[in-house]
Amino acid sequence: MKGLLYYNRGDLRFSEEVPEPKVVNDNDVKIKVAYCGICGTDLHEYLEGPIFFPKAGKKDKISGFELPLCPGHEMSGVVVEVGDKVTHVKKGDHVVIEATSHCSDKARYKETMKQGLPFCSACKAGKPNICKDLNFLGLGTGSGGFGQYVVYGSDHVLKLPEFVPLDTAALVEPISVAWHAVEQANFKPGQTALVIGGGPIGLASILALKGHKASRIVCSEPALMRRQFAERLGAEVFNPMEHKDTVGDLKALVPETEGFDAAFDCSGIPITFQTSIDALGHGGIAVNVAIWADKPIQYNPMSLTYQEKLATGSMGYVVKDFAEVIEAIANGLIPLESVRVLITGKVSAQDTVEKGFNELINHKESNVKILVTPNGEQL
Ligand SMILES: [Zn+2]
Ligand SMILES: [Zn+2]
Repeated sequence: MKGLLYYNRGDLRFSEEVPEPKVVNDNDVKIKVAYCGICGTDLHEYLEGPIFFPKAGKKDKISGFELPLCPGHEMSGVVVEVGDKVTHVKKGDHVVIEATSHCSDKARYKETMKQGLPFCSACKAGKPNICKDLNFLGLGTGSGGFGQYVVYGSDHVLKLPEFVPLDTAALVEPISVAWHAVEQANFKPGQTALVIGGGPIGLASILALKGHKASRIVCSEPALMRRQFAERLGAEVFNPMEHKDTVGDLKALVPETEGFDAAFDCSGIPITFQTSIDALGHGGIAVNVAIWADKPIQYNPMSLTYQEKLATGSMGYVVKDFAEVIEAIANGLIPLESVRVLITGKVSAQDTVEKGFNELINHKESNVKILVTPNGEQL
């Protein structure tokens, strides 16, 4: 089939001979990919990887597959074939894929199934998103959405309501990342939230907070174009470069609670991490959504202690997050028009490196999400 193959850092090639995945298990679902978003993680794999992808000569922990592999994990598409035991979706259904892979997925790949590996403690506890071997379809586990077809277990496949167009549906994945983070903040309707950073995940966080009925959403972001995107989604915006006392001025926006109920660091630099804690009211929860380089930073532990604040992190998503995002789109809490604002481009598989990856790397602020169309444009 046609698609992209990731060989190594800086080496992503279009090919007409990408191996087409096949239905081999009785719970497999084969999907013709409509749209697949290019994620920051894909850019990291291209510029600095392999990170999730196995290193040259190594095998993926879940699937046992080796490079080259087809990337792409933010997919929507149409079911074309199902295994014998699949009942909740059928041929012709429009679907999205929850792309994590974890202990329960090892059984899908014969080689690791023979090893009879036990589930890890996180998977046993019903938290497969923090599985010790966590990976994603399209980042090492199986062939991803930058190819014409994907095959994955039916437990990862969610049916879409008919009125949701397939291009907009490709955004369910990044919004689910943000949805999980909002759940990690134990967020209640009517609470106030600070989103630090207006990149793709910061903007998705604004939508996830709307879905949780936040009373105030403030997005702090220095870049004008990103603030404009945040405003179009309905957030109040704050330019930290225009304030001497950033924390004091942020807290002054929510005088009732003397700080926000929850804060989401979607930037991932030391100052934003500290601000995400300092701008909270007492008992507030700061969630790190950003992916950091693997090295420590300094912060002040007493900034948590004095007001019994919490700092936590959010990793990926679970199927429930996808289901709740689809429901929030269906009931209008997350308006379709707002989701559509995040789509800033569509490219063919052939043009993905030049007009997708390079465009996102070189014109960061004017882009949010570029969708790849491995089977050509379809609506
Ligand atoms: Zn992603
Ligand atoms: Zn596990």
